[in-house]
Amino acid sequence: MLTDAESLKQSFPLLNELCALQPVTWLNPRYTSMQEGYPHVGLSAEQVADAAARLERFAPWLAIAFPETQASGGIIESPICPLPVLQTVLDARYGQQLTGALWLKKDSHLPVSGSIKARGGIYEVLAHAEKLAIEAGLLTPQDDYVRLAEPEFRQFFGQHRIAVGSTGNLGLSIGIISAALGFDVTVHMSADARAWKKQKLRSHGVTVVEYEQDYGVAVAEGRRQAAMDERCFFIDDENSHNLFLGYAVAGDRLKQQLAAQQITVDAEHPLFVYLPCGVGGGPGGVAFGLKLAFGDSVHCIFAEPTHSPCMLLGVHTGLHDDISVQDLGIDNVTAADGLAVGRASGFVGRAMERLLSAFYTLTDEEMYALLGLTERHQQLALEPSALAGMAGPWRLTAQSEQLEKQGISARALAGATHLVWATGGGMVPPDEMAKYRVAAALALKE
Ligand SMILES: *Cc1c(COP(=O)(O)O)cnc(C)c1O
Repeated sequence: MLTDAESLKQSFPLLNELCALQPVTWLNPRYTSMQEGYPHVGLSAEQVADAAARLERFAPWLAIAFPETQASGGIIESPICPLPVLQTVLDARYGQQLTGALWLKKDSHLPVSGSIKARGGIYEVLAHAEKLAIEAGLLTPQDDYVRLAEPEFRQFFGQHRIAVGSTGNLGLSIGIISAALGFDVTVHMSADARAWKKQKLRSHGVTVVEYEQDYGVAVAEGRRQAAMDERCFFIDDENSHNLFLGYAVAGDRLKQQLAAQQITVDAEHPLFVYLPCGVGGGPGGVAFGLKLAFGDSVHCIFAEPTHSPCMLLGVHTGLHDDISVQDLGIDNVTAADGLAVGRASGFVGRAMERLLSAFYTLTDEEMYALLGLTERHQQLALEPSALAGMAGPWRLTAQSEQLEKQGISARALAGATHLVWATGGGMVPPDEMAKYRVAAALALKE
């Protein structure tokens, strides 16, 4: 492997910086228009609309099963908010004044499971439940899905099993929603998964299997065990189209939210969205939905830890899931839950490589510093991974020459909206948050 790694570094000099764990920013030379890129995705606007309609059908049941969704009529969605104070603070930190306005998408506070996984993970389980119930003749799409709360359905789903491998947050989403429907659900957790997430799942009646290895092993083992059981449905975070579609529904919803705030998105007022990336399904699906909603006026940027830059590595080399960060001697150890993934989804990388504007990496220390500043200046408690996108606006706009090549002028930047996708943190217990705060103070050298 070593010789391979050496020759790869010669072909792709950026890998030297990646291996040295230096933060890198890479503008994607294969980036193209939505018109050219869309046919390569392999999924359609109709499929995303179908997913949105399915979530609408389930909304009446969700409003009952999860009272915190009652206010939104059973629709699981998060608000956006401006970050004017933090924008000024970060201008000073990065020594560069950001043009345009900084906003936050608070998926950290999504109902049910407090992370971006409440989109794809929950959607996938609902789609599976609907399929089973329709096939069994228990349900039709015209029914009021409030019926799913009846004992008959719980009993029916109780005969079926669901399994998933996770670093934590996907397990939380799948576990909580599956248990609420009545499924017999098992979550295979990697070593880096937090104890409180395992406890929370067990309190919902979910079976948690723990591994001493990383995410890749937890997934492989979960997949293997599920394959031996024909009543078990394995949720495949690396390859699932349904997960991806569940995330993509966010695009049109964000369009409505921005319109409600009277924020224009067009060629003169581009939207930049900064998405923390693990295996890629979450940010990839959201990015696809955004591209469908805003076309070439939206620019999607993926953020990864310096210790786990799997998507950057896969897309940059074109090797996708044929290479892992470990192949280059990078350890895949990071405090950013959900981002500790060594091998990217090959499906997402190949589907989206023409539609993603840029990729960058940042250190855990920087995520902690941003965590501390966000809490102090905006009173928002997020988990480290949710901060990965926060450095993005300054990183990207520092590359003004390269941005011109992607057709983004200084004039357009002046009218830009920079939206950082905060992907998790809403359910972090106070004592865990206190530990994050200590790490943040260290990172800020206080
Ligand atoms: C899962 C997760 C991500 C990234 O999603 P992927 O689909 O793994 O790329 C980002 N942030 C948090 C908090 C997550 O849990």
